[in-house]
Amino acid sequence: MKASIVSYLEKKFGSNKFIFSEIPEKYSYDESTVYKCFPEAVFLPENEEEIREFIKISKERKIKIVPRGGGTGVCGGAVALFGGIVLSTEKMNKIIDFDEINLCVEVQAGVVNGELKVFLEDRGYYYPPDPQSYDTSFIGGNIATNAGGPRAIRYGTTKDYVMGLNLVTGEGKIINTGGKVYKYSSGYNLNELVCGSEGTLGVITKAIIRFIPLPLKRIVFLLPFLNLESAMLFVLDAQRANLPFSAFEFIDDTAVNYIEKFLKRSLPFSERAKCYLFAELEWDGNDRYLEEVEKLAKKNNSLDIFVATDRVSEERLWEARKKISYAFKEYSKKVYKADVVVPRGKIAHFIKKTKEISSENMPVACFGHIGDGNIHVNILELKENERVIDAKKILNLIMNIVKELGGYPSGEHGIGVAKKEFLKNFFSSYHISIWKKMKKVLDPNNILNPGKIF
Ligand SMILES: Cc1cc2nc3c(=O)[nH]c(=O)nc-3n(C[C@H](O)[C@H](O)[C@H](O)COP(=O)(O)OP(=O)(O)OC[C@H]3O[C@@H](n4cnc5c(N)ncnc54)[C@H](O)[C@@H]3O)c2cc1C
Repeated sequence: MKASIVSYLEKKFGSNKFIFSEIPEKYSYDESTVYKCFPEAVFLPENEEEIREFIKISKERKIKIVPRGGGTGVCGGAVALFGGIVLSTEKMNKIIDFDEINLCVEVQAGVVNGELKVFLEDRGYYYPPDPQSYDTSFIGGNIATNAGGPRAIRYGTTKDYVMGLNLVTGEGKIINTGGKVYKYSSGYNLNELVCGSEGTLGVITKAIIRFIPLPLKRIVFLLPFLNLESAMLFVLDAQRANLPFSAFEFIDDTAVNYIEKFLKRSLPFSERAKCYLFAELEWDGNDRYLEEVEKLAKKNNSLDIFVATDRVSEERLWEARKKISYAFKEYSKKVYKADVVVPRGKIAHFIKKTKEISSENMPVACFGHIGDGNIHVNILELKENERVIDAKKILNLIMNIVKELGGYPSGEHGIGVAKKEFLKNFFSSYHISIWKKMKKVLDPNNILNPGKIF
């Protein structure tokens, strides 16, 4: 970065707002395990006005800006791969307003998802979006990726909770979208446009987020199955029976190998089971539900059914699902990921086809949200193997299957750089040109996270 710009920025904002040298490593990567690049500098604003000022200056001087939340993204979105300054929202972590009448909070973009959850739970309320990175990912990052999570099947994704937000556009102007209102048919819905925009349209500075009353007690079930089809039929039966399930997650047998090694314990029936289903039910204490779940498990040939009704056993049952990404990371040099989404009825077919690509040298492990068709495919470049895998070729094969089945390349993680080359298989050039024009309106100088999404 030019010395003249450095001194100008330091003078304008104070030297404590920037890191120009000895940039900490954490700003050079995200959780993709694949993308790494140090930014030219890091900007640490404390309020919206500083962001607005900074964007105005960047627009004039053509400085690229890479917005960053908790850095837990898995698509390279928050990594400055094409140069520029990382704008970290970590100091913007205040809960500004708690409104029990309108059942909403106003938060700065850098509030950690899990901290908002605890704040609300202490007051008897609940914020449902639950990306499994909730203890470190930020609300701003969750909005920018439209994060989902296991409970999306019952409660929806981040966009369903954003009532309004403040966005500083690439022109250094502020727009407020929405507000404390529960209905909105007042022109184009810019809230929804910003959800999933991955820092390419503006920097989210604060948001009005709705919350709901705390749900009932939860019970977690672990069901091993001989095949994925049976697990899928269990899910469909449970939904048809209108049982109040809040999550259906699965892991396949390849994933089980790594999680068992990582946890240093075996999962029950792992020598036979090809699929484990983790199911969470919201429970009013009525035994009828438990009896029905057991009946459905039997009907669909589950090898057994394990039930957790207290926090400790619940955590133990969930552990295998929750730690899975860490297990892959432990045994791999790189993990190439795709969180594809296919119609629910096609999940079993998708996994079968994907397994045909998997081999001992290059395992392809699947897990994810079996209830909504959002499957996390992980191609493992193992530490023990010399061979460097051609991940692009394999991802391409997988994306072709997704396309054939009527799905899309991402259900919740976003595109970033990881999946951008596959977009043209899914969207016409006219469709993509509309996106590009929309970006141009909000970011005419292409300074906001350029090179991401498309
Ligand atoms: C162990 C693990 C489990 C995960 N589980 C899930 C899951 O269940 N569901 C799920 O959806 N995701 C999951 N993720 C992925 C990731 O946590 C989510 O994408 C999350 O929403 C990213 O939030 P973040 O604050 O870390 O954002 P970052 O990684 O910092 O940024 C992500 C993107 O958002 C942009 N951005 C960040 N803040 C702003 C802002 N204020 N304004 C504009 N743009 C911004 C960045 O430029 C980037 O493009 C998981 C990740 C890990 C490591």
